[in-house]
Amino acid sequence: MSKNIFDVVIIGSGYGGMLPAYKLAKSGRKVLLIERGKHLRPQDFKQELTLEYLASLYDISNSRSLRELYRGSRVLGGGSVTNDKIHHRAPSEIFHFEDEDLKSKAWPDGINRQVLDPYYEEVEKLLSIKQISWDKVSMIGGNFARLFSDAGLSCEPCNFNVGDGCVHCGYCESGCSFVNGKLSLETEVFWPAMETGNLTLITEHSAKAIKQLKGGEYRVELVKTSKNSLRAMTSKTVFGKKVICAAGPIGTVPLLLRSTQYLKKLSPALGKYISNNGDINFVLKTPEHYPDHFGYKSDTSCGTISYAFWDKHQVTMHAGMTPIQVAAGVDVRREGGLPWGLDHKHFMKDNVIHRLIPANGMGPVPSDMSMGINFSGFADISNPVSPGQEKHIYLMYNILKNLMDEVGGELLLTGKKYPFDLGGNHILGGARISNHFDTGVCNSRGEVYNYPGLYVSDASSIPGCLSINPAHTIAANALRISDEVMKAEGDIL
Ligand SMILES: Cc1cc2nc3c(=O)[nH]c(=O)nc-3n(C[C@H](O)[C@H](O)[C@H](O)COP(=O)(O)OP(=O)(O)OC[C@H]3O[C@@H](n4cnc5c(N)ncnc54)[C@H](O)[C@@H]3O)c2cc1C
Repeated sequence: MSKNIFDVVIIGSGYGGMLPAYKLAKSGRKVLLIERGKHLRPQDFKQELTLEYLASLYDISNSRSLRELYRGSRVLGGGSVTNDKIHHRAPSEIFHFEDEDLKSKAWPDGINRQVLDPYYEEVEKLLSIKQISWDKVSMIGGNFARLFSDAGLSCEPCNFNVGDGCVHCGYCESGCSFVNGKLSLETEVFWPAMETGNLTLITEHSAKAIKQLKGGEYRVELVKTSKNSLRAMTSKTVFGKKVICAAGPIGTVPLLLRSTQYLKKLSPALGKYISNNGDINFVLKTPEHYPDHFGYKSDTSCGTISYAFWDKHQVTMHAGMTPIQVAAGVDVRREGGLPWGLDHKHFMKDNVIHRLIPANGMGPVPSDMSMGINFSGFADISNPVSPGQEKHIYLMYNILKNLMDEVGGELLLTGKKYPFDLGGNHILGGARISNHFDTGVCNSRGEVYNYPGLYVSDASSIPGCLSINPAHTIAANALRISDEVMKAEGDIL
Protein backbone atom coordinates (compact mmCIF):
# COMPACT_ATOMS: atom_id res chain seq x y z
CA MET A 1 0.00 0.00 0.00
CA SER A 2 1.14 3.57 -0.66
CA LYS A 3 2.92 5.03 2.32
CA ASN A 4 1.27 8.38 1.70
CA ILE A 5 -1.80 7.95 3.88
CA PHE A 6 -3.38 11.26 4.86
CA ASP A 7 -5.00 11.62 8.24
CA VAL A 8 -8.10 12.92 6.50
CA VAL A 9 -9.09 13.02 2.84
CA ILE A 10 -11.85 15.56 2.16
CA ILE A 11 -13.84 15.41 -1.06
CA GLY A 12 -15.30 18.76 -2.13
CA SER A 13 -14.21 22.24 -1.05
CA GLY A 14 -17.50 24.10 -0.40
CA TYR A 15 -18.96 24.80 3.04
CA GLY A 16 -19.03 21.10 3.93
CA GLY A 17 -15.40 20.51 2.91
CA MET A 18 -13.32 23.66 3.25
CA LEU A 19 -14.31 24.35 6.85
CA PRO A 20 -13.36 20.85 8.10
CA ALA A 21 -10.15 21.11 6.01
CA TYR A 22 -9.31 24.34 7.84
CA LYS A 23 -10.17 23.04 11.31
CA LEU A 24 -8.44 19.70 10.90
CA ALA A 25 -5.31 21.16 9.27
CA LYS A 26 -5.11 23.68 12.12
CA SER A 27 -5.32 20.80 14.60
CA GLY A 28 -2.12 19.37 13.09
CA ARG A 29 -3.69 16.65 10.98
CA LYS A 30 -2.39 16.01 7.46
CA VAL A 31 -5.35 16.79 5.25
CA LEU A 32 -5.86 16.22 1.53
CA LEU A 33 -8.58 18.33 -0.09
CA ILE A 34 -9.90 17.16 -3.46
CA GLU A 35 -11.91 19.53 -5.65
CA ARG A 36 -13.31 18.70 -9.05
CA GLY A 37 -13.29 22.34 -10.18
CA LYS A 38 -10.49 24.80 -10.77
CA HIS A 39 -8.74 27.02 -8.27
CA LEU A 40 -9.81 30.46 -9.50
CA ARG A 41 -8.75 33.76 -7.97
CA PRO A 42 -10.74 37.04 -8.10
CA GLN A 43 -8.83 38.15 -11.23
CA ASP A 44 -9.92 34.96 -13.03
CA PHE A 45 -13.66 35.61 -12.80
CA LYS A 46 -15.56 37.28 -15.61
CA GLN A 47 -18.51 39.61 -15.37
CA GLU A 48 -20.47 37.39 -17.66
CA LEU A 49 -23.68 35.38 -17.50
CA THR A 50 -23.36 33.37 -20.70
CA LEU A 51 -24.36 29.74 -20.36
CA GLU A 52 -20.91 28.71 -21.57
CA TYR A 53 -19.20 30.62 -18.76
CA LEU A 54 -21.70 29.60 -16.06
CA ALA A 55 -21.37 25.97 -17.13
CA SER A 56 -17.65 26.22 -16.35
CA LEU A 57 -18.47 27.23 -12.74
CA TYR A 58 -21.46 25.01 -12.01
CA ASP A 59 -22.48 21.40 -11.99
CA ILE A 60 -25.97 21.31 -13.43
CA SER A 61 -28.38 18.38 -13.14
CA ASN A 62 -31.97 18.40 -14.25
CA SER A 63 -34.81 16.45 -12.70
CA ARG A 64 -36.14 13.44 -14.56
CA SER A 65 -39.25 15.42 -15.51
CA LEU A 66 -36.94 18.17 -16.93
CA ARG A 67 -39.00 20.61 -14.87
CA GLU A 68 -36.19 21.83 -12.60
CA LEU A 69 -32.47 22.47 -12.80
CA TYR A 70 -30.31 21.73 -9.77
CA ARG A 71 -27.13 23.77 -9.53
CA GLY A 72 -24.06 22.98 -7.48
CA SER A 73 -20.81 24.90 -7.72
CA ARG A 74 -17.72 23.52 -9.39
CA VAL A 75 -14.79 25.62 -8.20
CA LEU A 76 -12.45 25.73 -5.20
CA GLY A 77 -14.57 27.15 -2.37
CA GLY A 78 -17.77 25.64 -3.82
CA GLY A 79 -20.98 27.59 -3.30
CA SER A 80 -19.28 30.31 -1.26
CA VAL A 81 -17.64 31.50 -4.47
CA THR A 82 -20.72 31.50 -6.69
CA ASN A 83 -23.66 32.05 -4.37
CA ASP A 84 -25.64 35.15 -3.47
CA LYS A 85 -24.09 35.79 -0.04
CA ILE A 86 -27.18 35.35 2.16
CA HIS A 87 -26.02 33.77 5.43
CA HIS A 88 -28.75 33.41 8.04
CA ARG A 89 -28.97 31.12 11.03
CA ALA A 90 -31.90 28.71 10.73
CA PRO A 91 -34.67 29.61 13.22
CA SER A 92 -34.86 27.19 16.15
CA GLU A 93 -38.29 25.76 15.23
CA ILE A 94 -36.94 24.17 12.05
CA PHE A 95 -34.83 21.73 14.07
CA HIS A 96 -38.17 20.16 15.05
CA PHE A 97 -39.05 19.54 11.37
CA GLU A 98 -40.91 16.22 11.09
CA ASP A 99 -40.69 13.68 8.29
CA GLU A 100 -44.16 13.34 6.82
CA ASP A 101 -43.93 9.57 6.28
CA LEU A 102 -42.26 8.72 9.60
CA LYS A 103 -44.19 11.24 11.70
CA SER A 104 -41.04 11.86 13.70
CA LYS A 105 -38.42 14.55 14.07
CA ALA A 106 -35.87 14.48 11.23
CA TRP A 107 -32.93 16.01 13.15
CA PRO A 108 -31.17 13.51 15.38
CA ASP A 109 -31.62 13.82 19.14
CA GLY A 110 -29.55 16.53 20.70
CA ILE A 111 -28.86 18.55 17.53
CA ASN A 112 -30.64 21.87 17.64
CA ARG A 113 -30.13 25.59 17.21
CA GLN A 114 -28.49 25.91 20.63
CA VAL A 115 -25.90 23.29 19.74
CA LEU A 116 -25.17 24.94 16.39
CA ASP A 117 -25.01 28.51 17.73
CA PRO A 118 -21.28 28.50 18.62
CA TYR A 119 -20.53 27.08 15.16
CA TYR A 120 -22.70 29.71 13.45
CA GLU A 121 -20.70 32.29 15.35
CA GLU A 122 -17.41 30.77 14.18
CA VAL A 123 -18.58 30.90 10.54
CA GLU A 124 -19.68 34.52 11.00
CA LYS A 125 -16.19 35.41 12.21
CA LEU A 126 -14.40 33.50 9.45
CA LEU A 127 -16.45 35.06 6.63
CA SER A 128 -17.13 38.42 8.33
CA ILE A 129 -20.86 37.85 7.97
CA LYS A 130 -22.97 40.76 9.16
CA GLN A 131 -26.28 42.42 8.50
CA ILE A 132 -25.88 45.07 5.82
CA SER A 133 -27.07 48.59 6.56
CA TRP A 134 -30.14 49.98 4.78
CA ASP A 135 -27.94 52.28 2.69
CA LYS A 136 -26.26 49.18 1.21
CA VAL A 137 -29.62 47.67 0.19
CA SER A 138 -30.26 48.16 -3.52
CA MET A 139 -33.36 50.07 -4.60
CA ILE A 140 -35.03 46.89 -5.78
CA GLY A 141 -34.45 45.38 -2.31
CA GLY A 142 -35.85 48.56 -0.80
CA ASN A 143 -39.00 48.29 -2.89
CA PHE A 144 -39.33 44.63 -1.84
CA ALA A 145 -39.16 45.72 1.83
CA ARG A 146 -41.67 48.49 1.21
CA LEU A 147 -44.25 45.98 -0.08
CA PHE A 148 -44.10 44.25 3.29
CA SER A 149 -44.01 47.49 5.23
CA ASP A 150 -47.09 48.81 3.41
CA ALA A 151 -48.91 45.64 4.43
CA GLY A 152 -47.84 46.19 8.07
CA LEU A 153 -45.30 43.35 7.90
CA SER A 154 -41.60 43.15 8.68
CA CYS A 155 -38.72 42.83 6.25
CA GLU A 156 -35.05 43.39 7.03
CA PRO A 157 -31.65 43.71 5.38
CA CYS A 158 -29.83 40.41 4.79
CA ASN A 159 -26.67 39.16 6.46
CA PHE A 160 -23.93 39.13 3.84
CA ASN A 161 -20.28 38.05 3.69
CA VAL A 162 -18.93 41.14 1.96
CA GLY A 163 -15.96 43.39 2.51
CA ASP A 164 -15.63 47.03 1.59
CA GLY A 165 -14.40 46.12 -1.91
CA CYS A 166 -17.95 45.19 -3.02
CA VAL A 167 -19.14 47.53 -5.78
CA HIS A 168 -22.66 45.97 -6.03
CA CYS A 169 -22.04 45.01 -9.65
CA GLY A 170 -24.56 42.16 -9.60
CA TYR A 171 -22.19 39.42 -10.79
CA CYS A 172 -22.00 37.46 -7.52
CA GLU A 173 -23.09 34.26 -9.29
CA SER A 174 -20.23 34.59 -11.79
CA GLY A 175 -17.57 34.71 -9.05
CA CYS A 176 -16.45 38.00 -7.52
CA SER A 177 -13.68 39.84 -9.39
CA PHE A 178 -13.12 42.39 -6.63
CA VAL A 179 -10.54 42.07 -3.91
CA ASN A 180 -12.34 42.25 -0.54
CA GLY A 181 -15.69 42.05 -2.35
CA LYS A 182 -17.44 38.77 -1.65
CA LEU A 183 -15.52 37.08 1.18
CA SER A 184 -15.50 33.44 0.17
CA LEU A 185 -14.05 30.27 1.62
CA GLU A 186 -11.32 30.61 -1.00
CA THR A 187 -10.33 34.13 0.01
CA GLU A 188 -10.82 33.80 3.79
CA VAL A 189 -10.37 30.18 4.85
CA PHE A 190 -8.31 28.34 2.26
CA TRP A 191 -5.14 30.45 2.61
CA PRO A 192 -4.95 30.30 6.43
CA ALA A 193 -5.46 26.53 6.13
CA MET A 194 -2.56 26.33 3.63
CA GLU A 195 -0.36 28.35 5.98
CA THR A 196 -0.52 25.52 8.51
CA GLY A 197 1.61 23.45 6.13
CA ASN A 198 -0.78 20.55 6.76
CA LEU A 199 -3.11 20.95 3.79
CA THR A 200 -2.54 19.44 0.34
CA LEU A 201 -4.84 20.39 -2.51
CA ILE A 202 -5.72 18.47 -5.65
CA THR A 203 -7.98 20.33 -8.08
CA GLU A 204 -9.63 19.38 -11.38
CA HIS A 205 -10.00 15.80 -10.19
CA SER A 206 -13.28 14.16 -9.23
CA ALA A 207 -13.65 11.44 -6.65
CA LYS A 208 -15.03 8.43 -8.48
CA ALA A 209 -15.39 5.86 -5.69
CA ILE A 210 -14.38 5.10 -2.11
CA LYS A 211 -13.26 1.72 -0.83
CA GLN A 212 -12.60 0.65 2.74
CA LEU A 213 -9.36 -1.31 3.13
CA LYS A 214 -8.76 -4.20 5.49
CA GLY A 215 -7.02 -2.05 8.08
CA GLY A 216 -10.02 0.30 8.20
CA GLU A 217 -8.41 3.07 6.08
CA TYR A 218 -10.03 4.27 2.88
CA ARG A 219 -8.87 4.39 -0.72
CA VAL A 220 -10.33 7.11 -2.94
CA GLU A 221 -10.17 6.72 -6.72
CA LEU A 222 -9.98 9.92 -8.72
CA VAL A 223 -10.60 10.74 -12.37
CA LYS A 224 -9.65 13.89 -14.20
CA THR A 225 -12.71 16.15 -14.26
CA SER A 226 -12.04 16.86 -17.95
CA LYS A 227 -12.96 13.22 -18.73
CA ASN A 228 -16.61 14.20 -18.17
CA SER A 229 -17.51 10.74 -16.98
CA LEU A 230 -17.28 9.41 -13.48
CA ARG A 231 -16.90 5.93 -14.83
CA ALA A 232 -13.69 6.84 -16.71
CA MET A 233 -10.42 5.09 -15.90
CA THR A 234 -8.96 6.02 -12.50
CA SER A 235 -6.13 8.51 -12.94
CA LYS A 236 -5.00 8.85 -9.32
CA THR A 237 -5.53 6.91 -6.11
CA VAL A 238 -5.23 8.48 -2.67
CA PHE A 239 -5.52 7.08 0.83
CA GLY A 240 -6.90 8.43 4.09
CA LYS A 241 -7.31 7.13 7.62
CA LYS A 242 -10.54 9.08 7.51
CA VAL A 243 -12.59 10.39 4.60
CA ILE A 244 -15.09 13.23 4.66
CA CYS A 245 -17.56 13.42 1.78
CA ALA A 246 -18.43 17.05 1.11
CA ALA A 247 -19.14 17.17 -2.60
CA GLY A 248 -22.62 18.71 -2.17
CA PRO A 249 -25.76 16.58 -2.65
CA ILE A 250 -25.33 16.22 -6.41
CA GLY A 251 -21.70 15.19 -5.79
CA THR A 252 -21.77 13.19 -2.53
CA VAL A 253 -24.88 11.09 -3.17
CA PRO A 254 -23.70 9.88 -6.62
CA LEU A 255 -20.20 9.28 -5.16
CA LEU A 256 -21.61 7.03 -2.44
CA LEU A 257 -23.91 5.32 -4.94
CA ARG A 258 -20.93 4.64 -7.25
CA SER A 259 -19.09 3.28 -4.19
CA THR A 260 -21.78 0.75 -3.25
CA GLN A 261 -19.77 -1.86 -5.17
CA TYR A 262 -17.23 -1.52 -2.31
CA LEU A 263 -19.37 -0.16 0.51
CA LYS A 264 -22.07 -2.79 0.62
CA LYS A 265 -23.45 -1.95 4.05
CA LEU A 266 -24.62 1.60 3.36
CA SER A 267 -28.06 2.58 4.59
CA PRO A 268 -31.07 2.08 2.29
CA ALA A 269 -31.74 5.81 2.92
CA LEU A 270 -28.89 6.75 0.52
CA GLY A 271 -30.39 8.83 -2.29
CA LYS A 272 -33.62 9.38 -0.34
CA TYR A 273 -34.96 12.07 2.03
CA ILE A 274 -34.04 14.87 -0.35
CA SER A 275 -35.78 18.23 -0.72
CA ASN A 276 -35.26 21.48 -2.58
CA ASN A 277 -35.77 23.32 0.73
CA GLY A 278 -39.27 24.28 -0.44
CA ASP A 279 -37.69 26.74 -2.83
CA ILE A 280 -40.01 28.58 -5.23
CA ASN A 281 -39.31 31.45 -7.64
CA PHE A 282 -41.80 34.26 -8.13
CA VAL A 283 -41.86 37.82 -9.42
CA LEU A 284 -43.62 40.82 -7.86
CA LYS A 285 -44.69 43.94 -9.73
CA THR A 286 -44.59 47.07 -7.58
CA PRO A 287 -47.65 49.36 -7.33
CA GLU A 288 -47.68 52.31 -9.77
CA HIS A 289 -46.88 54.87 -7.07
CA TYR A 290 -43.58 53.20 -6.06
CA PRO A 291 -40.37 54.75 -7.39
CA ASP A 292 -38.46 53.11 -10.24
CA HIS A 293 -35.89 50.73 -8.80
CA PHE A 294 -33.25 50.48 -11.53
CA GLY A 295 -33.04 46.70 -11.19
CA TYR A 296 -29.93 46.42 -13.32
CA LYS A 297 -28.00 48.32 -10.66
CA SER A 298 -28.79 45.76 -8.00
CA ASP A 299 -26.64 43.16 -6.30
CA THR A 300 -27.34 39.62 -7.43
CA SER A 301 -29.25 39.25 -4.21
CA CYS A 302 -31.18 42.44 -3.64
CA GLY A 303 -30.42 42.39 0.09
CA THR A 304 -33.74 42.08 1.95
CA ILE A 305 -35.47 39.14 3.61
CA SER A 306 -38.81 38.76 5.36
CA TYR A 307 -39.67 36.46 8.25
CA ALA A 308 -43.16 37.99 8.45
CA PHE A 309 -44.88 34.64 7.84
CA TRP A 310 -42.47 32.58 9.92
CA ASP A 311 -44.55 32.25 13.07
CA LYS A 312 -47.63 31.08 11.20
CA HIS A 313 -46.17 29.09 8.29
CA GLN A 314 -42.39 28.77 8.81
CA VAL A 315 -41.62 30.33 5.43
CA THR A 316 -39.11 33.04 4.48
CA MET A 317 -38.91 35.21 1.37
CA HIS A 318 -36.14 37.32 -0.07
CA ALA A 319 -35.68 39.59 -3.03
CA GLY A 320 -33.76 37.61 -5.60
CA MET A 321 -31.73 38.23 -8.67
CA THR A 322 -31.46 41.09 -11.10
CA PRO A 323 -34.43 41.20 -13.50
CA ILE A 324 -32.48 40.55 -16.65
CA GLN A 325 -31.31 37.19 -15.44
CA VAL A 326 -34.74 36.16 -14.29
CA ALA A 327 -36.54 37.34 -17.39
CA ALA A 328 -34.06 35.35 -19.45
CA GLY A 329 -34.17 32.17 -17.39
CA VAL A 330 -37.71 31.87 -16.08
CA ASP A 331 -41.05 31.94 -17.86
CA VAL A 332 -42.50 34.98 -16.11
CA ARG A 333 -46.19 35.54 -16.91
CA ARG A 334 -49.17 37.48 -15.65
CA GLU A 335 -51.95 35.42 -14.15
CA GLY A 336 -54.07 34.14 -17.05
CA GLY A 337 -51.44 35.39 -19.53
CA LEU A 338 -48.73 33.80 -21.63
CA PRO A 339 -44.97 33.94 -21.12
CA TRP A 340 -44.60 34.95 -24.78
CA GLY A 341 -46.40 36.96 -27.48
CA LEU A 342 -46.85 40.68 -28.14
CA ASP A 343 -48.74 41.54 -24.92
CA HIS A 344 -46.07 39.81 -22.87
CA LYS A 345 -43.30 41.53 -24.80
CA HIS A 346 -44.73 44.99 -24.20
CA PHE A 347 -45.46 44.25 -20.55
CA MET A 348 -41.88 43.12 -19.98
CA LYS A 349 -40.43 46.06 -21.92
CA ASP A 350 -42.41 48.50 -19.77
CA ASN A 351 -41.76 46.84 -16.41
CA VAL A 352 -38.80 44.54 -16.26
CA ILE A 353 -36.11 47.03 -15.24
CA HIS A 354 -37.96 49.33 -12.87
CA ARG A 355 -41.03 47.58 -11.55
CA LEU A 356 -40.44 43.83 -11.37
CA ILE A 357 -38.84 42.17 -8.36
CA PRO A 358 -37.70 38.60 -8.87
CA ALA A 359 -37.85 36.82 -5.55
CA ASN A 360 -37.47 33.52 -3.86
CA GLY A 361 -39.40 31.85 -1.06
CA MET A 362 -38.65 28.79 1.03
CA GLY A 363 -40.73 26.73 3.40
CA PRO A 364 -41.17 23.27 4.85
CA VAL A 365 -41.83 20.55 2.28
CA PRO A 366 -41.52 16.80 2.80
CA SER A 367 -38.12 15.35 1.87
CA ASP A 368 -39.62 13.13 -0.81
CA MET A 369 -37.30 13.67 -3.74
CA SER A 370 -34.80 10.95 -4.63
CA MET A 371 -31.53 10.61 -6.50
CA GLY A 372 -29.88 7.85 -8.50
CA ILE A 373 -27.00 7.84 -10.98
CA ASN A 374 -27.01 7.88 -14.75
CA PHE A 375 -24.84 6.03 -17.25
CA SER A 376 -21.88 8.40 -16.73
CA GLY A 377 -22.17 8.22 -12.95
CA PHE A 378 -23.70 11.67 -12.49
CA ALA A 379 -26.81 12.58 -10.48
CA ASP A 380 -30.20 11.52 -11.76
CA ILE A 381 -32.79 13.42 -9.72
CA SER A 382 -36.44 12.57 -9.36
CA ASN A 383 -38.94 15.13 -8.11
CA PRO A 384 -42.47 14.04 -9.02
CA VAL A 385 -43.87 17.00 -6.98
CA SER A 386 -45.72 15.21 -4.22
CA PRO A 387 -49.01 16.36 -2.63
CA GLY A 388 -46.95 17.84 0.24
CA GLN A 389 -44.95 19.98 -2.18
CA GLU A 390 -48.10 20.97 -4.04
CA LYS A 391 -49.65 22.11 -0.76
CA HIS A 392 -46.61 24.29 -0.07
CA ILE A 393 -46.71 25.81 -3.59
CA TYR A 394 -50.36 26.83 -3.19
CA LEU A 395 -49.78 28.10 0.37
CA MET A 396 -47.05 30.39 -0.99
CA TYR A 397 -49.35 31.41 -3.84
CA ASN A 398 -52.09 32.43 -1.39
CA ILE A 399 -49.70 34.32 0.90
CA LEU A 400 -48.20 36.27 -1.99
CA LYS A 401 -51.48 36.90 -3.77
CA ASN A 402 -53.02 38.33 -0.56
CA LEU A 403 -49.94 40.46 0.05
CA MET A 404 -50.04 41.92 -3.46
CA ASP A 405 -53.81 42.52 -3.29
CA GLU A 406 -53.33 44.36 0.00
CA VAL A 407 -50.67 46.74 -1.32
CA GLY A 408 -51.88 47.14 -4.91
CA GLY A 409 -49.03 45.24 -6.55
CA GLU A 410 -49.23 42.21 -8.82
CA LEU A 411 -48.01 38.65 -8.36
CA LEU A 412 -46.46 37.23 -11.53
CA LEU A 413 -46.20 33.50 -11.98
CA THR A 414 -43.19 31.52 -13.12
CA GLY A 415 -44.41 27.93 -13.51
CA LYS A 416 -46.44 26.07 -16.10
CA LYS A 417 -48.16 23.19 -14.33
CA TYR A 418 -47.93 24.97 -10.96
CA PRO A 419 -47.94 28.71 -10.29
CA PHE A 420 -44.22 28.69 -9.52
CA ASP A 421 -41.00 27.41 -10.93
CA LEU A 422 -39.30 25.27 -8.25
CA GLY A 423 -35.86 26.47 -7.25
CA GLY A 424 -32.93 24.06 -7.59
CA ASN A 425 -30.16 25.94 -5.81
CA HIS A 426 -30.83 24.76 -2.27
CA ILE A 427 -30.99 21.00 -2.52
CA LEU A 428 -30.63 19.21 0.83
CA GLY A 429 -30.36 15.60 2.02
CA GLY A 430 -29.69 12.28 0.32
CA ALA A 431 -27.00 11.12 2.77
CA ARG A 432 -28.50 12.62 5.86
CA ILE A 433 -27.76 12.36 9.54
CA SER A 434 -30.45 10.51 11.45
CA ASN A 435 -31.09 8.66 14.68
CA HIS A 436 -31.56 5.41 12.73
CA PHE A 437 -29.73 3.42 10.03
CA ASP A 438 -32.96 2.89 8.09
CA THR A 439 -33.73 6.60 7.84
CA GLY A 440 -30.28 8.11 7.43
CA VAL A 441 -26.84 7.39 6.02
CA CYS A 442 -24.94 8.89 8.98
CA ASN A 443 -25.31 9.02 12.73
CA SER A 444 -25.68 12.33 14.52
CA ARG A 445 -21.89 12.78 14.46
CA GLY A 446 -21.92 12.68 10.66
CA GLU A 447 -20.20 9.26 10.60
CA VAL A 448 -21.58 6.84 8.02
CA TYR A 449 -23.39 3.90 9.63
CA ASN A 450 -21.22 0.72 9.42
CA TYR A 451 -18.17 2.65 8.17
CA PRO A 452 -16.15 4.12 11.04
CA GLY A 453 -13.98 7.00 9.87
CA LEU A 454 -16.15 7.81 6.84
CA TYR A 455 -18.13 11.05 7.27
CA VAL A 456 -20.58 13.25 5.35
CA SER A 457 -20.52 16.95 6.24
CA ASP A 458 -22.18 18.87 3.39
CA ALA A 459 -25.75 19.76 2.39
CA SER A 460 -26.53 16.09 1.78
CA SER A 461 -26.17 15.47 5.53
CA ILE A 462 -28.87 18.03 6.41
CA PRO A 463 -31.91 15.97 7.48
CA GLY A 464 -34.82 18.15 6.42
CA CYS A 465 -36.00 21.45 5.07
CA LEU A 466 -34.49 24.57 6.64
CA SER A 467 -36.97 26.99 5.03
CA ILE A 468 -34.21 29.57 4.77
CA ASN A 469 -31.03 29.94 2.73
CA PRO A 470 -29.05 26.92 3.83
CA ALA A 471 -25.33 27.78 3.45
CA HIS A 472 -24.88 29.07 6.99
CA THR A 473 -26.40 25.96 8.56
CA ILE A 474 -24.42 23.65 6.26
CA ALA A 475 -21.27 25.50 7.32
CA ALA A 476 -22.09 25.37 11.05
CA ASN A 477 -22.95 21.68 10.84
CA ALA A 478 -19.69 20.97 8.99
CA LEU A 479 -17.71 22.65 11.79
CA ARG A 480 -19.67 20.57 14.32
CA ILE A 481 -18.77 17.40 12.40
CA SER A 482 -15.08 18.44 12.34
CA ASP A 483 -15.23 18.59 16.13
CA GLU A 484 -16.79 15.11 16.15
CA VAL A 485 -13.88 13.81 14.05
CA MET A 486 -11.46 15.23 16.64
CA LYS A 487 -13.56 14.00 19.57
CA ALA A 488 -13.49 10.47 18.13
CA GLU A 489 -9.69 10.65 18.41
CA GLY A 490 -9.87 11.95 21.97
CA ASP A 491 -8.59 15.37 20.90
CA ILE A 492 -11.37 17.47 22.36
CA LEU A 493 -13.96 16.59 24.95
C1 LIG B 1 -26.62 30.32 -7.86
C2 LIG B 1 -26.71 29.93 -6.42
C3 LIG B 1 -26.91 30.91 -5.45
C4 LIG B 1 -27.02 30.55 -4.11
N1 LIG B 1 -27.16 31.52 -3.16
C5 LIG B 1 -27.20 31.18 -1.85
C6 LIG B 1 -27.27 32.17 -0.84
O1 LIG B 1 -27.26 33.37 -1.10
N2 LIG B 1 -27.35 31.75 0.45
C7 LIG B 1 -27.38 30.42 0.79
O2 LIG B 1 -27.49 30.11 1.96
N3 LIG B 1 -27.28 29.48 -0.16
C8 LIG B 1 -27.16 29.82 -1.46
N4 LIG B 1 -27.00 28.85 -2.40
C9 LIG B 1 -26.88 27.45 -1.96
C10 LIG B 1 -25.54 27.17 -1.29
O3 LIG B 1 -24.48 27.76 -2.01
C11 LIG B 1 -25.36 25.65 -1.18
O4 LIG B 1 -26.42 25.15 -0.41
C12 LIG B 1 -24.03 25.30 -0.52
O5 LIG B 1 -22.95 25.78 -1.28
C13 LIG B 1 -23.91 23.81 -0.35
O6 LIG B 1 -22.70 23.54 0.33
P1 LIG B 1 -21.98 22.15 0.14
O7 LIG B 1 -20.71 22.19 0.89
O8 LIG B 1 -22.95 21.08 0.40
O9 LIG B 1 -21.69 22.06 -1.45
P2 LIG B 1 -20.90 23.05 -2.39
O10 LIG B 1 -20.68 24.36 -1.76
O11 LIG B 1 -21.62 23.00 -3.69
O12 LIG B 1 -19.48 22.37 -2.55
C14 LIG B 1 -19.32 21.09 -3.12
C15 LIG B 1 -17.99 21.07 -3.85
O13 LIG B 1 -17.69 19.71 -4.17
C16 LIG B 1 -17.16 19.64 -5.48
N5 LIG B 1 -17.41 18.30 -6.00
C17 LIG B 1 -18.57 17.77 -6.45
N6 LIG B 1 -18.41 16.49 -6.82
C18 LIG B 1 -17.11 16.21 -6.60
C19 LIG B 1 -16.33 15.03 -6.78
N7 LIG B 1 -16.87 13.88 -7.23
N8 LIG B 1 -15.02 15.08 -6.47
C20 LIG B 1 -14.44 16.22 -5.99
N9 LIG B 1 -15.14 17.36 -5.81
C21 LIG B 1 -16.46 17.34 -6.09
C22 LIG B 1 -17.89 20.72 -6.23
O14 LIG B 1 -17.14 21.12 -7.37
C23 LIG B 1 -18.02 21.82 -5.17
O15 LIG B 1 -16.97 22.75 -5.22
C24 LIG B 1 -26.92 29.18 -3.74
C25 LIG B 1 -26.70 28.20 -4.71
C26 LIG B 1 -26.59 28.56 -6.04
C27 LIG B 1 -26.35 27.48 -7.06
